[in-house]
Amino acid sequence: MAGRIDRVAIVGGGFSGSMLAARLAETGIASTLINRTPDFGLGVAYSTPFDGHLLNVRSSRMSALATQPDHFVRWLEANAPEVSDPDGFAPRLIFGRYVQARLAGIEAGHPGLIRRVVGEVAGIEADGVTLSDGLKVAADAVVLTTGNPAPRTASGGSRRVISDPWAPGALEVIGSDDEVLIVGTGLTMVDMLLSLEGRGWRGRAKALSRRGLLPRAHGERPDPAEPPTPALLDGALSSRMAEARAVSRRSGWREMMEGLRPITADLWGRADTATRGRIVRHLRPWWDVHRHRLAPRIGAHIDRLLADDRLTVVSGRVKAITADADGVRLDWRPRQGPARQPLTACWLIDCTGPGHAPEGDPVTGSLLTGGRARLDPLRLGLELDDSGRVLDADGRADPRLFVLGPPARAAFWETIAVPDIRKRIEDVVSALTAPVKT
Ligand SMILES: Cc1cc2nc3c(=O)[nH]c(=O)nc-3n(C[C@H](O)[C@H](O)[C@H](O)COP(=O)(O)OP(=O)(O)OC[C@H]3O[C@@H](n4cnc5c(N)ncnc54)[C@H](O)[C@@H]3O)c2cc1C
Repeated sequence: MAGRIDRVAIVGGGFSGSMLAARLAETGIASTLINRTPDFGLGVAYSTPFDGHLLNVRSSRMSALATQPDHFVRWLEANAPEVSDPDGFAPRLIFGRYVQARLAGIEAGHPGLIRRVVGEVAGIEADGVTLSDGLKVAADAVVLTTGNPAPRTASGGSRRVISDPWAPGALEVIGSDDEVLIVGTGLTMVDMLLSLEGRGWRGRAKALSRRGLLPRAHGERPDPAEPPTPALLDGALSSRMAEARAVSRRSGWREMMEGLRPITADLWGRADTATRGRIVRHLRPWWDVHRHRLAPRIGAHIDRLLADDRLTVVSGRVKAITADADGVRLDWRPRQGPARQPLTACWLIDCTGPGHAPEGDPVTGSLLTGGRARLDPLRLGLELDDSGRVLDADGRADPRLFVLGPPARAAFWETIAVPDIRKRIEDVVSALTAPVKT
């Protein structure tokens, strides 16, 4: 039996959910966009109130629309001309305004096609979704755009341990000269240091991560893509890594990464489980710091903090975190060399980034236990087909259940940043507008 999809429930109203709702409305499909909070369009990334948090992608690549690459830059020229350089890195809060403006514009132009609901989705059924307050939203199809799961908590209970640094006001307890420990040395750590400094903090920070790697910075001007060599695309992972180093030496590492970017999802799709496992275990930390780069200005700022000894980075594993009324202590095992003294400070900020436990999430957890979904072999997320449809326990694609955005990582690997998500939005829209066989 063929059936049309007329009403879609979208679970999560960040960038992915909002921009999907907008594209669906443009094709005449109604959606209910459900988000925990009323700030539709923002999500964690674009809800920062701090204008020192810059995009980590140049404005020329941040259009919300796959079909109109200059859409964001044109919006900047009209609405924030002071930051409209296409090669520049605009404040994230301005990008949030752009997303909200696009959503509002589509709502005005297509009245009644997008319904906003503030609430927590607690369950997915065959005919819609149910919110935690019991409200039922009927739908012919459901798209999960729930973003990254909440971070794991570093240590239970103590106010000295800031386990959700994104929570509004989380850093307000930190005094201007307080010493800070940070677990995790990626983009979240950088954001937190910038937020602290924006509030007048002049203290010192010691940061720990397994490898002690810091995100690299973009070049001042856009880096041309180096076309990938055949040896980069095929063969054992170790020989491809050797080729990557050779290409980087010859043509520059940013150019090499730019060349890989458009084909990363295809390369991931073609890799077998053993290769994917090696990528996740060994390559991922290196991939992340080279792929998700800082705006040059922010990279230079972090370099200054390091040079001034206000930021110290060590590599190792957390053994224990203990806290009392006076401060916090971090016992750790160095990655190499003899045991080292515990690290101590007034506060500890958990910057380990998003959690990745689909089983623990109430929505995906119940899909898994009910057999409507299954995890990929590496347990990165739900298994999906090429359009983002969820595969059930027997491997059949559900034509009425999709995942879009960061939780689709098992299928597409790079599905975190706007340029990747907007492509996936088009795939989901095409799948939802095609006749459904039931
Ligand atoms: C700090 C930070 C900076 C970033 N900077 C950039 C950048 O510069 N450029 C770039 O391209 N990408 C950036 N990213 C990547 C970012 O993930 C994407 O750009 C995009 O914001 C992802 O949007 P999303 O809607 O998929 O997820 P999210 O923004 O996480 O939104 C998901 C939404 O779903 C809601 N939700 C979850 N579960 C439920 C439920 N059960 N019921 C109701 N609501 C629910 C959440 O509350 C949230 O509002 C950044 C990410 C972070 C965290």
